[in-house]
Amino acid sequence: MSSEIRQAKNDFAVGLEGGSGFGAWTCYNGLMGIIDISPTLDAALAVWPGDPPFVRQVLASRQAGAMINLSALAMSAHAGAHVDAPHHFADNATSVAALDLAPFWGPVQVVTVAKSSGSLTPDDFRHVDLCRAPRLLVRSSAPPASPHVFPAAFVYPTPELAEVLGRCGICLYGTDAPSVDPPESADLAGHHALTRNGIAILEGLVLAHVPDGLYELAALPLKIAGGDGSPVRAALRSLESAPA
Ligand SMILES: [Zn+2]
Repeated sequence: MSSEIRQAKNDFAVGLEGGSGFGAWTCYNGLMGIIDISPTLDAALAVWPGDPPFVRQVLASRQAGAMINLSALAMSAHAGAHVDAPHHFADNATSVAALDLAPFWGPVQVVTVAKSSGSLTPDDFRHVDLCRAPRLLVRSSAPPASPHVFPAAFVYPTPELAEVLGRCGICLYGTDAPSVDPPESADLAGHHALTRNGIAILEGLVLAHVPDGLYELAALPLKIAGGDGSPVRAALRSLESAPA
């Protein structure tokens, strides 16, 4: 057991004995092992070319004498880590408020592919058992990039890969790319193929610090009526035991 985990367990035991002002149950991230896989939403975050930037407008400020700090947000529904609803790319399709939440919470496999850009086929996953978990997060081999620069190229699934994932029973495809189709795509074949195979879409993740393996994913979309997408706070918790 690593000293970090041992310390977290000791801290957890102290918490259970009631030393905390929050009562007997206190959350310790060290023990829970939560890994944040979301970029920070700020004005400098790169967005899809042509989309509006993220804006947090301060409406009231304690420093300026108000009783509270209060802000309003303006952003594309596809900024940062986000879910695409079928309504994003098809008429009369499911909006984000009507999405089944099950794909966005549960066991997931993180897999690094050898490519840093371009299309992904089943061949790119020869080194893994895709059926290990019902959700898949794809980490490209591109070096860690600034969230302030929109990537010139990225990986995206082919319809052939979507068919294979569908046959494995995969219900969610997540990616560190900003889309599941290249910027020049005219038909959004990746989006349509994933949806046709019952696979939800999670884009814009930060996976550079996440080793391949099995995790629990939590990335619930907001309940936006008629929405085509929603930002999420995406996080992982390891399901594989820590080294002794
Ligand atoms: Zn999107």
